[in-house]
Amino acid sequence: MSAVVVIGAQWGDEGKGKVVDIFTQYADAVVRYAGGANAGHTLVVDGKKMVLHLVPSGALHPEKTCVVGPGTVVDPAALLAETAALRSQGLLGPGRLIVSDRAQVVLPIHKLVDGLREDGAGDGAIGTTRRGIGPAYEDKSGRRGVRMGDLLVADRLAQKLELNWASWAPIIEHLGGEVPDQQAALAELLELGKALTDVIGDTTSYIHQALERGERILLEGAQGTLLDVDHGTYPFVTSSNPTSGGACTGAGVGPTHIDTVVGITKAYTTRVGAGPFPTELHGQEGEDLRQAGSEFGATTGRPRRCGWLDAVALRYAVRVNGCTSLALTKMDVLTGLKRLQICVGYELNGTRIDSVPADDLDALTPIYEELEGWEEDLGSARDIDELPAAARAYLARIEELVHCPVTLVSVGPGRAQTIAVTDPFATQK
Ligand code: GDP
Repeated sequence: MSAVVVIGAQWGDEGKGKVVDIFTQYADAVVRYAGGANAGHTLVVDGKKMVLHLVPSGALHPEKTCVVGPGTVVDPAALLAETAALRSQGLLGPGRLIVSDRAQVVLPIHKLVDGLREDGAGDGAIGTTRRGIGPAYEDKSGRRGVRMGDLLVADRLAQKLELNWASWAPIIEHLGGEVPDQQAALAELLELGKALTDVIGDTTSYIHQALERGERILLEGAQGTLLDVDHGTYPFVTSSNPTSGGACTGAGVGPTHIDTVVGITKAYTTRVGAGPFPTELHGQEGEDLRQAGSEFGATTGRPRRCGWLDAVALRYAVRVNGCTSLALTKMDVLTGLKRLQICVGYELNGTRIDSVPADDLDALTPIYEELEGWEEDLGSARDIDELPAAARAYLARIEELVHCPVTLVSVGPGRAQTIAVTDPFATQK
C-alpha cells in the first residue's frame, strides 16, 4: 500500500512535469487523475525539451507504466498524436500506457463550444485553453458523457452522440456556430477507438492490484490548487479537482492509501488566463520575472502573469491538500533581484486577513515582508549548503510561513539541477 500524490500548489505551471519525472525513478506506475490535454508539462532531459499534455510525466522512463485515470477527460486524437510522438522516440512500449475505459471523452463538439464561448465572452472570458475540457466535464456531470470504453462499442457510441448532439446543437446555434455532422463524428471516433484499442482498459483494477502487490504508485496532478473547481478562485478555475482529494476520486483509490502529498510551488507566483492574482506585478518588474523565468504557457504559448510568492495562498494550498512536504522550483530565476517580497497577509477594507477568502480577491491588498536577494547563479548548486545564505533564508522563511518543510529545490530545468531529492515513498508518515 503505497501511493504518493504530487499536486500543483499555485495556479498551475509550477514545474510538476520536472518533479514527477524525477520522482518516477522511485515509482512503478504514474497516474494522471484529473484534467485533460489543457495541461502542459514541460520536461527537459539531456537538453531535449518535450511537452506532455495528457500522458503522465513518467513517460520518459521506458520501464514504468503510465496510467490515465477515470477522473480525466481524454481527447482521443490528441492522445493518439502524443503517444505516436513518444513511441517514435522508443518510449511507451507495449503495455506501458493504460487509459481508463471510464475516462470521459473530449469530443470535437466540446472544443467547438469552448472556443465559441470564449470568443463571445469578451472581457468575461475565463481564458480557457479552448481544448473542450469544460464542456466535457459538463457532459460528465450531466450524465450524457461519452467514455473511452464507448469508443469500442459502435451502437452505444451512436446512442450517446445522439444525446450529446441534442444537448449541444441549440447552444452552438445560439452562439452563432455551425453544428458539426454527427455521422461524420461517429465514424471518426470509431476510427480513433480502433487505433486506441490496445491502450483502453480497466485502470482501476490495475491500480488496485498494483497496490496489493506492494507497488509504488505516483499520482500526478495537473493544473493547481487555486484552479480547483471547489477550492480555487471560482469561477476562474478549471472544471475538475486538481487537489489531492481529486487523486482519490480521479484514480479510484481511497484516502487511506495515500500517506504523502508533495505540493509543488514556484519560488514566486504565476497565473495564466483571467482571474484574481493578489501579488501580481504589473509593469517592468513583472516583465523582468516573465523573461527570466521564460513564463510562457506550455499549451498555448500565452505569456504568464507573474508576481511575488503569496505565502497566504500557499499555506491555504498546504492545508487543502494536506501537503506533507513542498518542492520549490525555479529558485534560480530570482537571482539578481536585490530585494524579494513575500506576501504574508492581505488587507481587505481596512482589516487584515490571513486566509484566502471565497470572494473579493480583486480587492485584496497584499501585505509584504521584504527579504534580501542574492546575486549568485544557482544553476550549478547541488546541495542546500551550496546556496547563498540569502537563498537559504528565503527557503527557511517560506517553511515557517506555510508550516510545511521544503524537501526538494529546483535550480534549473534539467534533471540534474535539483537539490535535496528524497524518495517520496520513503518519507511516508
Ligand atoms: P507544469 O505544468 O507544472 O509541469 O509546469 P510547466 O512545464 O508548464 O512549466 C515549468 C517550466 O519551467 C518548464 O519549462 C520547465 O522546464 C521549467 N522549469 C522547471 N523547473 C525549473 C527550475 O527550477 N528553473 C528553471 N529556470 N526552469 C524550470
